[in-house]
This record gives sequence, structure tokens and C-alpha cells, in this order.
Amino acid sequence: MMGGVCINTGTIPSKTFREAVLYLTGLNQRELYGQAYRVKQDITISDVSSRIHHVVAREIDVVRNQLSRNHVATHIGTAHFLDPHTLAVVGDHGQQKKIAADKFVIAVGTRPARPDTVDFDGATIVDSDQILGLDKVPSSMVVVGAGVIGIEYASMFAALGTKVTVVEKRPTMLDFCDKEIVEALQYQLRDLAVTFRYSESVREVQKHPAGTLTTSSASRRWPPPRWSRAAGRPTTPSANPSATSSATCNPSGSIASRRSATSAGRKAS
Ligand SMILES: Cc1cc2nc3c(=O)[nH]c(=O)nc-3n(C[C@H](O)[C@H](O)[C@H](O)COP(=O)(O)OP(=O)(O)OC[C@H]3O[C@@H](n4cnc5c(N)ncnc54)[C@H](O)[C@@H]3O)c2cc1C
Repeated sequence: MMGGVCINTGTIPSKTFREAVLYLTGLNQRELYGQAYRVKQDITISDVSSRIHHVVAREIDVVRNQLSRNHVATHIGTAHFLDPHTLAVVGDHGQQKKIAADKFVIAVGTRPARPDTVDFDGATIVDSDQILGLDKVPSSMVVVGAGVIGIEYASMFAALGTKVTVVEKRPTMLDFCDKEIVEALQYQLRDLAVTFRYSESVREVQKHPAGTLTTSSASRRWPPPRWSRAAGRPTTPSANPSATSSATCNPSGSIASRRSATSAGRKAS
């Protein structure tokens, strides 16, 4: 995955999603042309995703060119430590090569949290990576977690006309932000028909004939047809850092250092 989460599933796709939504819905132009103004009446998910694919492909090309211009060798595959100074890189077809080095930087990033109580299926119950692969704009959606990623997707789907419910266990969203900004954002989102359920945590999400069934710890239930999980991203635990004898993964996936010597970027969360 050249470019990591930033280019493939995170920053760049979500910001491109935003630009596509703003352009196609005409949201920024409505003050001038009226509330009914839209560049396109029936916006499909492929209107949005075709723009994402185009931008992502170009950005991957930019990174690849920069690396080759600067004579950085790239090896495509999944790496794991064989010993503190040797990596094995396993390619798509099982071919393996070894790379030796004095020092290593572990920068394996994060992936969406996947609790056992949620029936992820990639279609009706999706995490924040899978949301880019939805086949149509859902009529309704529950977003679990009012953090940056949850609110970003809640606002974009609300702008596309999806009826969005945000469930958050804290009493407010984006609790690290300025209160007045949060108030203003909340006002705008309610204007787009977003409903907020604060101080409620989701206990489980199951498939249901009508789509999905989301149950909160207070036994409240929401049955909209689409659900998106966006609550937290533990560190990718796939590089076998324990083989370096300097680091281990804790249960949430964070890399914890046991000794200060070998690896730079010891805690990547
Ligand atoms: C929806 C979303 C929106 C975001 N928006 C923003 C934003 O607007 N602004 C912002 O600053 N940040 C944003 N972020 C966060 C940002 O994308 C991440 O913080 C950033 O990409 C982290 O970079 P990284 O290099 O640490 O890890 P990653 O991008 O996760 O890269 C880690 C790489 O390591 C590879 N890897 C993992 N294990 C192995 C292995 N064993 N062998 C070989 N390779 C391996 C992975 O495939 C991946 O390519 C967003 C994230 C998401 C999910």
C-alpha cells in the first residue's frame, strides 16, 4: 500500500470525498443560488468514488516518483522480523526476501478497531476504511464515535442526503476542540438533519432483515439500513516487533518499548 493510510484510505480519499460532495451538492453556493441548488440532482457513490480513484492514483504516482528520484529502494510485501537485524519481506505470491540493517524504523501505522460485538460485513456494517467501498449512498446511517473521522463522514453523508445518527459515549463531540466551534458545527449538522445521541455507548451491532440493528448500553436500538464504525484505530500489530527483543504489542495493538536501544518510532499509535 504505497502511501499508507494517508493516500489510500485516510486523509487524501476523505478530503477528496469532501471536495466531491461540496461540488456536486452545491452546498457552498446555496446562499447565492437558493437552497434547492445542486450541480447534480441524483448523486451516486460512483460520482464521488471516481474522483477519489483519480486523485489517489496520481498521489501514489507522485510518491513513487519521489522515492525513485531520491534513490530510495522499495520492497513490496509484508515484513516481519527474523532477528533484531534482519527482516523477511513476503510478497503477494509468497516469495520471500531478507533485508538486513543496523537500525529499523517501525512505522506500521494503524487500522480501524474491530470489536467482536460488531458483525462487520463490508456492505451494511463497515469500518472507516470500508466506507469508501459502499455501493450506493445509504438512506440512513448510524456513525459510532463523534471523533474527527466519525464527524467527517457524518457531515459528508448528511450533505448527500443520508439520515445520519451519531452515537457517542462522551457528553459531547470533538471534546479537544474549542466549545464555540463545536457548538457552531453541531448547529450546522443538525440543520442537515443529523441526530446526536451523547452519553450512550454502542454495545453491539448486528445484521437485520431491514439492514442493521445497533444496540446501546442503555438497551436503546436503532434500525437504519447502514452503519459505519469510526471509533478508534489501534496500531497495526503485523511486523512481529517482539522479534527485535525491544518492543511488544499491547492488547490494543500499541507497540510498547521494553528497552530504549534498537528501534526508532517505538510507540506508533
Ligand atoms: C478517514 C481518515 C481521515 C484522516 N484525515 C486526516 C487529515 O485530514 N489530516 C491528518 O493530518 N491526518 C488525517 N488522518 C490520519 C493520517 O492519515 C494518519 O495519521 C497517517 O496516515 C499515519 O501515517 P503512518 O505513516 O504513521 O501510518 P500509515 O499511513 O498507516 O502507514 C503504515 C504503512 O505500513 C504498512 N505496513 C503495516 N504493517 C506492515 C508490515 N508488516 N510490513 C510492511 N508494511 C506494513 C501499511 O500497509 C501502511 O502502508 C486521517 C485518517 C483517516 C483514517
